[in-house]
Amino acid sequence: MKYFSTNRQSPIVDFREAAIQGQAPDKGLYFPETIPAVQAAVLQNLKQLDEAGIAYEVIRPYVGDTIPAHELRRIVAETLSFPIPLVNVNEHIAALELFHGPTLAFKDVGARFMSRCLGYFLRNETRKVTVLVATSGDTGGAVAHGFYKVPGIEVIILYPSGKVSPVQEKQLTTLGHNIQALEVKGTFDDCQRMVKEAFTDDQVAEKRFLTSANSINVARWLPQQFYYFLALRQWEYEFPPVIAVPSGNFGNICAGLLAMQSGLPVQHFIAACNVNDVVSSYLRGSEWQPRTAVPTLSNAMDVGNPSNFVRILELFGHSISDLKQRLSAATITDEETLLAIQRIYNESGYLADPHGAVGYLALERYLQAHPGLHGIFLETAHPVKFPEAVQRALQKEQEIPAALEQLMQQPKQARAIEPDYEELKGYLLD
Ligand SMILES: *Cc1c(COP(=O)(O)O)cnc(C)c1O
Repeated sequence: MKYFSTNRQSPIVDFREAAIQGQAPDKGLYFPETIPAVQAAVLQNLKQLDEAGIAYEVIRPYVGDTIPAHELRRIVAETLSFPIPLVNVNEHIAALELFHGPTLAFKDVGARFMSRCLGYFLRNETRKVTVLVATSGDTGGAVAHGFYKVPGIEVIILYPSGKVSPVQEKQLTTLGHNIQALEVKGTFDDCQRMVKEAFTDDQVAEKRFLTSANSINVARWLPQQFYYFLALRQWEYEFPPVIAVPSGNFGNICAGLLAMQSGLPVQHFIAACNVNDVVSSYLRGSEWQPRTAVPTLSNAMDVGNPSNFVRILELFGHSISDLKQRLSAATITDEETLLAIQRIYNESGYLADPHGAVGYLALERYLQAHPGLHGIFLETAHPVKFPEAVQRALQKEQEIPAALEQLMQQPKQARAIEPDYEELKGYLLD
């Protein structure tokens, strides 16, 4: 498999090169030259095959010969070392729970796969390999855990002081070993600016092999297809599901659409957004109009310029009318999100996090308008990561899972730095 850049000004590369580079040199996103069809024998026997076996068949054509079969099987098995259950919430709606991984959000799947691929690709690199990443919350923890103790790789995470939730901060700052956290006295934008500057600094490049771990990397995007197949493996109806995906940067839903183009039976996709709804407006006929993100309760979806949407356009050959046949978008406000958390809990006893609640509500509305269908929403994070929203919706504290209790008692290890590139540079050269 070869990958081209969506800006079409960069050389064609293989999976290895795309995964190491992250973004193409022309600042486009890498996209596969062809969409492989998943073998009929796999699709027809989902319920009989084991999970890692399905995932291996799905990813193998994308990886090509850049990773030998036995290594890829190991990587896939390690990626999926936790359950991804489909849980019935009511008669028509089921939740695909993607929060049973080490950092309690779906990003664990992509981060675990990517970290192991990079660990393999860079195993013979003689310079010090450093994964440098800025996070607004969930990405940092997932990347930290993904690369934890991966030989030869050091991870440096920049996060904005006081702007991540307590659970998120602990996930970033308590691992130690090859994971280092820099607590930046500034905003997420400061963190991102400093990281970008490091990538263009020749003095740093002489000393370290820097690589990024952000969500546009193909090695993080493509394995997100796995759980759509695992959802269908647990699906009990004959007619395919409608799937609602809480969306911010649109990587997750783009992986679902890719799975569908590869043959996975899905009736329809819904991009469930909060008020940061550039895509919904676009699908309603407005111009493509990126804007500054507004803070909401579902903060992992506060994205004003969703990078992966260009990949969705590629998937549908830039035909908006084809796209609209398979994808709708919905906008859900914070007020509606809180009411949804409350109502889902009261009606079904199911506790949704704010992102999942946005997905649930978007799905419920679609099913009401299209009677007779059944659907799945992706529960993208554990509610305990967003205690404030849940407290506001239900007027009560959540129980902290035992595993998390232990995490919350670990001492935080982070070095505080000013939002000044020279400080980061000094650290990188030290
Ligand atoms: C990152 C994230 C999202 C958004 O996913 P995209 O792939 O950026 O659309 C949704 N929910 C949670 C909990 C997340 O961490």
